[in-house]
Amino acid sequence: MILILTPNVDEQSEAYRQLLAHLATLQGIQTRIHAERGTEQRLTEIYLIGNTKALEIGDMQSLPCVERVVRISEEYRILGRHKDEQRDTHFEYNGVRFGQDTLHVFAGLCAVDNREHVEIMMKAVADQGQVCTRMGAYKPRTSPYAFQGHGKNCLPYVFELAGKYGIKVIAMEITHESHLNEIRETLEQTGNPTGVMLQIGTRNTQNFELLKIVGRQTEMPILLKRGFGITLDESLNAAEYLASEGNRKVIFGLRGMKTNMGDPHRNFVDFAHVPVVKRLTRMPVCIDPSHSVGTRAAAPDGIPDVMHVTAQGVLAGANMVLVDFHPAPPKALVDGPQAMLLKELPYFLEDVQIAREAYLRRVALRQKQNF
Ligand code: PEP
Ligand code: MN
Repeated sequence: MILILTPNVDEQSEAYRQLLAHLATLQGIQTRIHAERGTEQRLTEIYLIGNTKALEIGDMQSLPCVERVVRISEEYRILGRHKDEQRDTHFEYNGVRFGQDTLHVFAGLCAVDNREHVEIMMKAVADQGQVCTRMGAYKPRTSPYAFQGHGKNCLPYVFELAGKYGIKVIAMEITHESHLNEIRETLEQTGNPTGVMLQIGTRNTQNFELLKIVGRQTEMPILLKRGFGITLDESLNAAEYLASEGNRKVIFGLRGMKTNMGDPHRNFVDFAHVPVVKRLTRMPVCIDPSHSVGTRAAAPDGIPDVMHVTAQGVLAGANMVLVDFHPAPPKALVDGPQAMLLKELPYFLEDVQIAREAYLRRVALRQKQNF
């Protein structure tokens, strides 16, 4: 059960103290307080954990400072979408709004290779009026002998160039807690020219200790990729690890499932789960067509498979597209075969726009029906 308190509740007030004192008397119930500071107000929620079935909604609603009470299902307590749910489904980061109703494209480098390519990529993104990109500095690789990413050495120029081209959010995977500090320190040293969305990759979806550490910081949002060989429920619970540690700015990423049934694609595309994740949780949903498909191959209609599946995801209501581009794919150090060409970026974005408009028309059509 969640008690949603009146906005800007005063924690020093007598009423608040009375509320906590009352909750402490409830047998077998533990409390967990979560405060979220928005631009306009501070929202406090108290989670009641334990045998809450015995508690009456009306009784809890009449307690001091309580505005609303939500009875939650056992699963996905914080990020889940519960019965009669009215809580927000969006957050803002560095001036960019992310929600189940928005759409952002993060076109960029799977792996940073050199400064020149980063600059060409960011300029191309900015020229299209985009403020988000992807830049991989820490790469989890199958082989220990493969390029592992430039790590912290590339961060200063990646962040400076992002500032130069007005990039507001960079999606960047981290694979170890030390990367978190390296990113934080470099952002500070470079004067915070941009923002970073921390990405947890599919190989770390159930790295619970990493999830806890990343979830404990609340300044940067998190993109959690679905685990490639576990159930959707297991991956959604992984997202809940982040939220239960304090960070609710979580975006859930679909990136395909590892199985030969998806051949000749790199993974089996799972974008049919876009509406499922939006129904079960309040998280915005990202699709990664590049790691799903893994090739630049095109259908007889001339449209690359990467773009066909992107359209499928966007048509189903996806809120973010994470997609690999590269100025010279044959020279890319990681995942060159799936990177789209820079000259294709305006075409890609226009195609996404077509799918987005079709999605919005589908929503409007549904709203006109009275059943
Ligand atoms: C990536 O986005 O670069 C990546 C490695 O993705 P995934 O974790 O989905 O394989
Ligand atoms: Mn990759």
